Parts: sequence; structure tokens; C-alpha cells
Amino acid sequence: MKITILGASPAIPNPGGSCSGLLFESGDTALLIDCGVGVVSRLQQHIDYHRLSAIVITHMHADHALDLVTMRYALKYGPWDGPPAIIPVHLPPQGTDALETIARPFAEDESDFFQGEFDMREYDPHHALDIGPFHLTFQPTTHYVPTWAIRIEAEGRVVTFSADTGPATDLSPLARGADLFICEAGVPSRQEEPHTWGHLAPDEAGAMARRAHARVLVLTHVWTGYNTTAMLEAAHRAFGGPTHLAREGEVYVL
Ligand SMILES: [Zn+2]
Ligand SMILES: [Zn+2]
Repeated sequence: MKITILGASPAIPNPGGSCSGLLFESGDTALLIDCGVGVVSRLQQHIDYHRLSAIVITHMHADHALDLVTMRYALKYGPWDGPPAIIPVHLPPQGTDALETIARPFAEDESDFFQGEFDMREYDPHHALDIGPFHLTFQPTTHYVPTWAIRIEAEGRVVTFSADTGPATDLSPLARGADLFICEAGVPSRQEEPHTWGHLAPDEAGAMARRAHARVLVLTHVWTGYNTTAMLEAAHRAFGGPTHLAREGEVYVL
């Protein structure tokens, strides 16, 4: 499978970057995980958005979901000769209400803002979700709103995405043996932000990757204003394996 980093920024897009978005491709199936600010722009550098098989959202924070509004405009008004593309959007529990509330001021009339463009559903995180060859399983995280980390399996390979999480949740069961563990590091170090309970420091991400026996750790949700070299080193020291910083446009083929 092919994984393209569409967004690696934290809540604020890094200069020239975008917020959370990962594109997974296998055969004809193209799956977008998260659709944060700037992701629709970045997605078009890689595929035609009409080709998306589905979108799955980890949690209803703006940096993970706000470009769903942009995506709806793209599908409704963007140039397209083919039949109408209605894209399945898998939101977390209670995500439909949150998204419709966000979009209400933009509605042109009384009809549902997303009707005709999205087939909105809410996933049950207690059960697996299959999208083409992709097999998704979920684990709740420790964050400011209900959030699910996702394990994505296809073609005998495994990628685990932490979504946003604090250190109180151990994601190593979900990341067990992952070929790629894409893990957030929202704070530069625990010493600098001892009270930020909803995000990880890089060494906490590294320790989780070590416990999971992951093959490669990719740190994401990192503000480039921090000392990213020191963050990468801290994660690598705790993990002991190959450790990268996620960058928009980078492609991993597993
Ligand atoms: Zn976030
Ligand atoms: Zn968040």
C-alpha cells in the first residue's frame, strides 16, 4: 500500500503546510484519513478528489475535520464531467451533529448542506471497518474530545495512526508490529509542557513505538517552530529504531 502524508501540522498549519491528512492507496481504493485545514488543496497534488473511496475522521477538531466543508464545495461546484460522486464519510460517534452544526451558516437553503456530496455515517469504534482492501480497527485515546486512533491493515502490511492523544493511553496494542507508526508529538517535551495532558512529547511517542515493536516511527502533528532536531533525537533515543519527521508530500510504499 501507498501512504501519502497530506498534512503533518499541528492545530495551526505550519508555513506552507496543512493540518492532519493521510492518503492510503491500494489498487483502485483511495482512503483519506482526516481532512484538516489545507488537506483538500494538498490532496489535489496527488489524486482527483472524485476518486476517493471514503473519508474517515479520527475526531471532530478543526485541524482534523474542517476541510470536509471545503471538500463539499469541491464536490458540488468543482469541474467534473463524470457522474455525481457521493463520498462515504465515516465520522466518529456524534460526529454528524458536530459537522452539521459547523456547516449550518454556510447552507444555501433549507436542505442538508452535505446531501448529494457525502454519504455520512458514524463508525462504531468497537467494530472493525472494511473499506476495499483496508481493514480498520480503533482504540480510544486521551484527548480533549472523543478521539480514536486507527490501525490500518492491507496487503499484509500495517500502519497505525495515533490521531491526537496524551500519554495516559498506551497505544502499543493498536500499533503492535506496525510497519509504520505515525504518531503525534504535539508538545516539544514533557518538561516544557507538563500540564498538556492531551498530546504526546516525542520521547513518549518513542517509548510507545518501542513497546509496540513498530518497525518505523513517523512523528507528526509537530510545530516546525519547535526544535524539531531535538524532538526527533528524543523520539529516536526512546524508540531505538528508524524515526522520521512527517513532511507534507512524502510518500511511503509498504
Ligand atoms: Zn490535532
Ligand atoms: Zn485534536
